[in-house]
Formats: sequence, structure tokens, C-alpha cells
Amino acid sequence: MSKFDRYERNLAIGGISQEQQEKLITSKVLVMGVGGLGSGVIMNLAAMGVGQIKVVDNELIEESNFNRQLIHKYKNLGRAKVMSAKEWVQEFNPDIKVEIEKVKINELNYFNIIEGYDIIVDCFDTYEAKYMLNEIALRHKMILVHGGIQGYCGQLTTIIPGKTGCLSCVIQKPKVFSEQPNCSLSPVVNVISSLQSQEILKIITGSGELLMNKLLVFDGYKGEFKTLNFSKNIACDACSIEEPIF
Ligand SMILES: [Zn+2]
Repeated sequence: MSKFDRYERNLAIGGISQEQQEKLITSKVLVMGVGGLGSGVIMNLAAMGVGQIKVVDNELIEESNFNRQLIHKYKNLGRAKVMSAKEWVQEFNPDIKVEIEKVKINELNYFNIIEGYDIIVDCFDTYEAKYMLNEIALRHKMILVHGGIQGYCGQLTTIIPGKTGCLSCVIQKPKVFSEQPNCSLSPVVNVISSLQSQEILKIITGSGELLMNKLLVFDGYKGEFKTLNFSKNIACDACSIEEPIF
């Protein structure tokens, strides 16, 4: 039995090379939030064979999570989401190392959490946390795959410090953040989390075209995708002082 057996269909015609699969197996990805988006991203990363996943979330599983957070089983109601996610991955693909941090990240505690990783996936459910993550990723020159959901709609983009605009360039940071939770429908959440996972696949394997300076917007109500092109805003508070890394 070879370590590639499980990934045979990744390597079939039209897929990726054995060398690219090896890159996935030896890669590390940091997933911020294991709600709806995080569930889909972690499940996809585990299926693709990403060798190490770190999951950061402070919440416990509630009844209202089950409409979209597919990684959590009902038996885990009331348990920490990070434990539930780790358990799912270990049962699904025991070759994958899962690190967990049950913590709400902030400007004071984030440094040890991100250390050792260079790809972050934004699966947070509030824009306040998303903008903080955008600024952390820029500061430490980490690639950030942003995803967001609002009702029937969702969007994503890949932010590479010094090379692309950032979240604040494309969606202006509000002065006041809403505290109302967004409506999140499972099909929309899973479209966006799958597309975020696809970006990670391309980043790690160096294949395909990334959504750089492109916001891909999905309108599930109309059944439409649109690509909005944007560029780095030279007056952006978050990224205008960054130096290129490539
Ligand atoms: Zn910016």
C-alpha cells in the first residue's frame, strides 16, 4: 500500500501530479473558525490530503449550528467545535495531523497561534474578526483566503501581501460592525467553502489561476457568479505600507 493510494483519483487524468500531491501532504493550513465555512474547508482539506491543519475557534456547538456546520455531529452538542472538528478529521483521514486552539483570537494573543503557518483561511462569521485577520495576515506576509456569506450570497478572494489588494481595498472597512448574525444557508456556505478550498489547492500545488485582485461573488438566489476586478488602493489603511514579498 502506498501513501498515494487514497489520492489515486486526485492523480488521474486532468488532476494533479504525484509531486503536487506530495506538496499537499507536506503542507500546513491554518483555518480560522469552524462554523459553516470552516466545516466545508476542513472537510475538503482532509479529502485533498493537506497534511497538517490547525483549527482555531472558541465556541461550543449549539443546536442552531446544525443547519450548515456539517462537520459537527449531533452527539457533540455542547462540546467545543475544535474538538468536534478534530474528531471528524481523525475518523475520516487518520494520516492528517490536526492542531487545535480553543481561543478567540485578538491582537494580543494571535502571534503564537499563527506561528509556523503561511496560509490562513478566513472562515470567521463576523466582519470585525475578518478585518482583524486581514490586518494580521498583511503584517506577517501570510496568504489569506477570504470567504464571506450573506443570505443567499457569498464571496471570496485570495489576498497575497504586496501582490494584491486586501480585504479593506475591495470592501471598505465599516466604522461600526453589525452585531446581528448573518443568515447562512447550507448550500451557499458550501459553495463558498469549496471555492476557498480550491484556492488553497492551487496555492499549494502552484497550479491554475488564483482569485488575485478578483472578488468572486455568488448569488445563489439568481444562480449567478460574477467576478469583480479590483486593485490595491494606494490609500488603503491596511495594506498601503506593505512591501512586496515576490
Ligand atoms: Zn488594502
